[in-house]
Amino acid sequence: MSEVNINRLKELAKLPYNNLCADCNHPNPDWASVTIGVFLCSECARIHRGLGSHISFVKSFDYDNWDQELLTFMEQYGNELAKEHYEKHVPPYYRRPNRDDPNVLREQWIRAKYERKEFMHQVNTVYSRGYMEGFLMKKGKKGKKLERRKFVLSEVDQTLKYYIKSSSKTPKAVINIPDLNATFCDPAKIKTIKSPNALQLTYLKDVYTRSIYVYADDGKEIIDWYMAIKAAKYQYLQIAYPTCPPIELLPHLTRDFLKEGYLWKTGPKIGDSYKKRWFTLDYRKLMYLEDPLDPFPKGEIYLGEKGKQFAISSGIPAPLKKHMYGFIMKTPERTWLFSAETEEERKQWISVISSILETPESTQGCQVYLRYSLRNSVSYTKSRDSMGSYRNSGSSFTGTLRKGKKFLSFG
Ligand SMILES: [Zn+2]
Repeated sequence: MSEVNINRLKELAKLPYNNLCADCNHPNPDWASVTIGVFLCSECARIHRGLGSHISFVKSFDYDNWDQELLTFMEQYGNELAKEHYEKHVPPYYRRPNRDDPNVLREQWIRAKYERKEFMHQVNTVYSRGYMEGFLMKKGKKGKKLERRKFVLSEVDQTLKYYIKSSSKTPKAVINIPDLNATFCDPAKIKTIKSPNALQLTYLKDVYTRSIYVYADDGKEIIDWYMAIKAAKYQYLQIAYPTCPPIELLPHLTRDFLKEGYLWKTGPKIGDSYKKRWFTLDYRKLMYLEDPLDPFPKGEIYLGEKGKQFAISSGIPAPLKKHMYGFIMKTPERTWLFSAETEEERKQWISVISSILETPESTQGCQVYLRYSLRNSVSYTKSRDSMGSYRNSGSSFTGTLRKGKKFLSFG
């Protein structure tokens, strides 16, 4: 390839819009689709190759030949025009992935755009109808068994229900959409579930966080469920907060966990030994589980604001050889001693928890945020005793529960 051509190509890829991958916004793309006319990162180019060359023919800047004709085509099109064409009707609640998002999310976004052409016109997609019914594999409560379950999502009822059998009249569980969160499973959980198309659904059961793990063989199916949940939550928030601008509602549809992983923790008494637990940080809620796929955490720690009896620092008193990456977290209820498995992990946990403690519990602006904080501002510690029931530490529990509505408010 001539020097002149490659220079011209690289100049084109520096223009606004072209300088970010058309599908994941990763900077400095070094691939392009010469049938669609977009500049891409290597990861998205790999997915494009899977679509077949009749849909997208990808070429590398460095290894492929670029003739005059191709350059003129790329000049005429480019990422800005392609966006206008292929993303014209992306629903506001639809999650546009970035490079770090799960592969299934990126692949289905690319397939939705160029293969199914879901956003070129206002089409009636499975997830935009307000009602969705189908089967998902669900991890059983005990053990690793997977069961096929029927799920029904209804925007009118604002519920997600699942049934043991397709002929069952009574659902096994009814989950209120406002209480529901959906997030893609962490790689450690995917290893057990053995499917990359796995979602973790969490909701409040009484005041406790219940998780269910579901997957579909087909990537499109799991993304359809995920987007349908986002759509239902969007509809709920629009009705609940009619004066709130839609743009402010969007961050509250679903949320990813801020961090997950193993930590060692001590018990509440001095001299208690360290136990390895799976930790999940869901905004202000730090949960610990015996197994990453347990339906309920063994405990939940509410993270308030720094200075209000909440603090975090590196190191542990009299560090043990085995637990050298220790850190201390203080909450009004107790002092927590943790130990990470590596220095890098310790740094990440301290950094992410610090940023939460430094975030004001309620900020001005849209009341959704306030309501969200309120819904979760239940300051309690709890543990599951050997009988399997919960006991509450009592005095610090400040929420009241309005039965039926599962709405937590301050008394
Ligand atoms: Zn990309």
